[in-house]
Amino acid sequence: MSTEQMEKNIHHIYRDMGLSAPVIAFGEAVEKACRERFEQIDETAQYNQLKVLGAMQKHRVNAGHFASSTGYGYNDDGRETLEAVYAEAFHGEAALVRPQIVCGTQALYLALSANLLPGDELFSPVGRPYDTLEEVIGIRPSVGSLAEYGVTYAEADLLPDGSFDYEAIRARIGARTKMATIQRSKGYASRPTLSVERIGELIAFLKKCKQDLICMVDNCYGEFVEEIEPTDVGADLIVGSLIKNPGGGLAPCGGYIVGREELVERCARRLSSPGLGKEVGASLGVKRDLYQGFFLAPTVTAGALKGAVFAAGIFERLGFRVIPDSRESRHDIIQAVELGSPEALCAFCEGIQAAAPVDSYVTPVPWDMPGYDSPVIMAAGAFVQGSSIELSADGPLRPPYTAFFQGGLTWYHARFGVLKALQRLVDRGVVEAAELG
Ligand SMILES: *Cc1c(COP(=O)(O)O)cnc(C)c1O
Repeated sequence: MSTEQMEKNIHHIYRDMGLSAPVIAFGEAVEKACRERFEQIDETAQYNQLKVLGAMQKHRVNAGHFASSTGYGYNDDGRETLEAVYAEAFHGEAALVRPQIVCGTQALYLALSANLLPGDELFSPVGRPYDTLEEVIGIRPSVGSLAEYGVTYAEADLLPDGSFDYEAIRARIGARTKMATIQRSKGYASRPTLSVERIGELIAFLKKCKQDLICMVDNCYGEFVEEIEPTDVGADLIVGSLIKNPGGGLAPCGGYIVGREELVERCARRLSSPGLGKEVGASLGVKRDLYQGFFLAPTVTAGALKGAVFAAGIFERLGFRVIPDSRESRHDIIQAVELGSPEALCAFCEGIQAAAPVDSYVTPVPWDMPGYDSPVIMAAGAFVQGSSIELSADGPLRPPYTAFFQGGLTWYHARFGVLKALQRLVDRGVVEAAELG
């Protein structure tokens, strides 16, 4: 078949799937402009693919490791090997990788509550952490928070230009400061995401202020976006969710903690109990998915990254504020698009939902989600509930009505989702068809 015929076919199927000709053409123009970025993304994926493969080979992963365990889960060799693979790939001394950790928030709560004792202080040198952590820490009073257990909290905001406020950081580290929490991704804030290199600079400064300060990085959405991880630049612990990047879309649930052995051991004891630690925890039937998902994670992350760059290209050309823009270097898979009105935010999310393989026919509506302080709209037609490595978009209904767009198990799906979102904005008159050139 000729290239020309193939292009025609793709055009046709896009038309059948509800895209108008101007939207398709606009997408093609933006994709052309992204080519160079895509090549860089592919190179990073290649590097990380080999990193994961090498870790699996070194630890002699075999089919026996996929077998399920039940009950206490004693002697689960596959669970231990998976943890060794994570530790190896992320260059940490030890890892805790468990389906019993239900989500990223729990993984972070685990790492914090295991390593902070009454009277200790937790410090965020990068401003307010992710919404769900506010109740974990007790910034918003909550039953069971760290605050209830006598752990206090301090923070230093980033400076207006996004740089670290070294003076404030130095001033706020005191005798009781035990642990620092550094969030790599921007979450629902409009600040830049931190590169691993910048995290390294920050950690070096923190350790200079206080040598034994435990530096934990909330690594959610950052895994495999770069060739190094925060553990390569001095982080004592990195923490994340398996229904984001490292689960590769296959992990049905779970979280991980990688880092210094003694700190990870405390997390294991906190998760199961003192005396039991890492030795227990049935892996049920999920291990093959965790292994295979980790194996696929570098390329899945690359697809999601391409989708994010493409979305930035589309919406910045139309005059929306996008963070990051299509040329900036990237350190997580999240793309923020400021849509400016609740109607536009909802239309965007409806477009993403309509592009999904699962639940494409439903309409997302804003709701009061536990852990968040304003209504949130979420579009997700995912194989795994709430999985945000799958194509998804969400945003709190508060100004400037930013959609946080992320994921896509394949680049082609992410591409289609972005164009569906654009189509919905055109259909609603938020974007004029004439603007598409
Ligand atoms: C997703 C995320 C978390 C944890 O969220 P869960 O929904 O509980 O998995 C924490 N921090 C950041 C930056 C995140 O993106």
